[in-house]
Amino acid sequence: MSRVDIKIIFNCNNCCAFCVQGDKRFKYQGRDLDDIKEALASAKKDSCDEVVFTGGEPTIHPELIRAVEYAKSLGFKVIQIQSNGRMFAYKDFCQKIINAGANEFSPALHGSTTEIHDQLTCSPGSWQQVVSGIKNLKSLGAHVLTNTVITTKNYQDLPSIANLLVELNVDQFQFAYVHIIGSAAKNKEWIVPRKTDVMPFVKRGLDIGIRANKRVMTEAIPYCLMQGYGYYIAEKQIPETQIYDGDGLLKNYKEYRTIRGKVKREECKKCKFFNDCEGPWKEYPEIYGWDEFNPVIKE
Ligand code: SF4
Repeated sequence: MSRVDIKIIFNCNNCCAFCVQGDKRFKYQGRDLDDIKEALASAKKDSCDEVVFTGGEPTIHPELIRAVEYAKSLGFKVIQIQSNGRMFAYKDFCQKIINAGANEFSPALHGSTTEIHDQLTCSPGSWQQVVSGIKNLKSLGAHVLTNTVITTKNYQDLPSIANLLVELNVDQFQFAYVHIIGSAAKNKEWIVPRKTDVMPFVKRGLDIGIRANKRVMTEAIPYCLMQGYGYYIAEKQIPETQIYDGDGLLKNYKEYRTIRGKVKREECKKCKFFNDCEGPWKEYPEIYGWDEFNPVIKE
């Protein structure tokens, strides 16, 4: 399976403190329908069979429905909408986009309460809309996989988030460690937790999903911190992906992650996970150093 991820707009109706897109909303216009169609057709020629419409916030793009219809007409098997989830609070919108051909929905939930989530999105009322949105999508029979960005403000809440997601009957949830670029880089003084502080809560959250037979994943947490939970590391399951970003086409997302985005240190060569592990995003050891990452030695 190969995937194309198309950032169709950089504007957003949230202003998340951890947003990796940062001020791209002021820099890039986004794509018009012809531009999106061209990207879809080219990806199809490159044998992509999955498309993720993302941004910014794709659900506020005026041509999203027509873009989804076009993706369906080209025969994409998976058509995913990766979203902050707020527009899904409108059930007629959910029905329209499902009718157009979208068959996977990836809303973001960053807290089990209004206080935690809305503080991170800087958008009062956003938690209520995401929760209503997930209920709407599930009532329409949609496949829902959520993402939660792990920050200082919500890591202790991860088990409660997991309980809420199980209660909402999502199909899959992911905890993604904050990537310290964009707005997260601007807020790095307060938004970045130590990974070793986070791990007990990540594991308790995963356990809740596993017990409920949900598919669960983590992103940007190396194997040495995930011992016993290596099966749930997202990076080894991410299909080959190309990304249409603001400044052009990134043909190979894995290559970007492993060559430019993430790092390992010399000692990692002793680790039995060296070949599988991508290491942390490179900005993390610039803040906290390497003492949390200890090679797992072969028996
Ligand atoms: S020690 Fe290095 S290679 Fe091993 S799991 Fe940790 S970061 Fe990855």
